[in-house]
Amino acid sequence: MRIVVLGGGYAGLACLARLARVLPDADRHLVDPARWHLRRTLLHETLRKPLSDLRADFAPIARRWEFRHHIAQVDWTPARLEEWSRRGELPVGRRKLAFDALVVTTGLPGVRSRPSRARPPPVPLESLTTGPGVNAFKRLAGTEERAWVVGAGASGLQCLFELAAVRPQGAPLGLVEAADTIMAAEPEGLRKAVFERLDGLDIDIRMGTRYESFGRGRIRMSADGSSLSEPAGGVLLCTGPKVERIEADSAGRVLHGSRPLAGIYAAGDCARWKDVPFDAATAQTAVRKGRHVADTVARVAEGRSPEPWDVRQLGFFMSLGPHDAVGWVFKRAALISGLPAVAAREAIEARWDLLLRGLDSFAAF
Ligand SMILES: Cc1cc2nc3c(=O)[nH]c(=O)nc-3n(C[C@H](O)[C@H](O)[C@H](O)COP(=O)(O)OP(=O)(O)OC[C@H]3O[C@@H](n4cnc5c(N)ncnc54)[C@H](O)[C@@H]3O)c2cc1C
Repeated sequence: MRIVVLGGGYAGLACLARLARVLPDADRHLVDPARWHLRRTLLHETLRKPLSDLRADFAPIARRWEFRHHIAQVDWTPARLEEWSRRGELPVGRRKLAFDALVVTTGLPGVRSRPSRARPPPVPLESLTTGPGVNAFKRLAGTEERAWVVGAGASGLQCLFELAAVRPQGAPLGLVEAADTIMAAEPEGLRKAVFERLDGLDIDIRMGTRYESFGRGRIRMSADGSSLSEPAGGVLLCTGPKVERIEADSAGRVLHGSRPLAGIYAAGDCARWKDVPFDAATAQTAVRKGRHVADTVARVAEGRSPEPWDVRQLGFFMSLGPHDAVGWVFKRAALISGLPAVAAREAIEARWDLLLRGLDSFAAF
């Protein structure tokens, strides 16, 4: 049996590690244009860490988990997924890679155009995966005018706290969020803790405000039908790309209408699984769904029915700058903050390190 995983992020590598256990005799392949896995959960730390620290070469990971890595980018569309399913082949460069199962885990799309130095455009969060994007983030950190972060999701807030830690003294920061609250799915106590930290940093916070544009040293916004314009040294856009996701059932089988498409599976940020308890765009979800989809592939190969993914969220942690964090584990009401939360975040990252080194400790949870 041959299994091809398209995309070596959290979902793809978790899937390959699990496949090594549940289908050890299968011929396993990864297709990814990069030579390395990128730890996207640490991208906000690129103000103080080189991007190379966030990269882990695929070659040793492939040896540990016994798969072959093909360096290629293969873009999916719903029509292509159907065609690949019909032919049982994935076009990889000039070759065709035959498969019995294809697992698509390509994450959210990155940014392909380079930020320009002459007229700084808003810096999209996705661009931090590239050297020029990180340089633009650093220029934003150094500007003396107000630097604005647009989007108060966990990723945007983590970037804001990192900016606050490195900004020149007295250089102002701003936060723009279209909703009236932050991280609505998380417990009230966690939101309160985040706002308390923001208060201590003297940040101009604009809730219920839409970002419109940035140019000529000003950010333009709108709220309650009025337009606003404020001085701005730069803008970091953390609103998330608006993209089409692959529809899959609750076991990770890609759907064509209401029926599974033979041999095609999807997990991670690129996929939306129907009727599951939670479907957040986080690495935690990507890892767990990557593992589950591997089990689905194995069950289908054995002629058994796949099992729906039916697990609850185990916890949530976010960093509030280099030496602070907040979150919860197992019980939403039991908040952890400060150094214990920093340690918990590091423990989560260490588990991922172990997987990259050939030890799958995720089996325990
Ligand atoms: C600044 C920031 C901080 C974050 N912090 C956290 C956090 O603290 N905790 C948390 O749980 N989550 C966090 N996240 C979210 C988390 O990083 C994502 O949810 C996670 O990376 C999704 O994993 P994935 O495997 O779906 O995709 P990705 O990790 O994005 O991996 C996708 C892979 O697919 C490859 N690929 C893409 N397109 C193609 C193609 N066409 N062909 C072949 N390969 C392709 C890419 O090269 C990449 O290797 C953060 C995100 C950001 C941006």
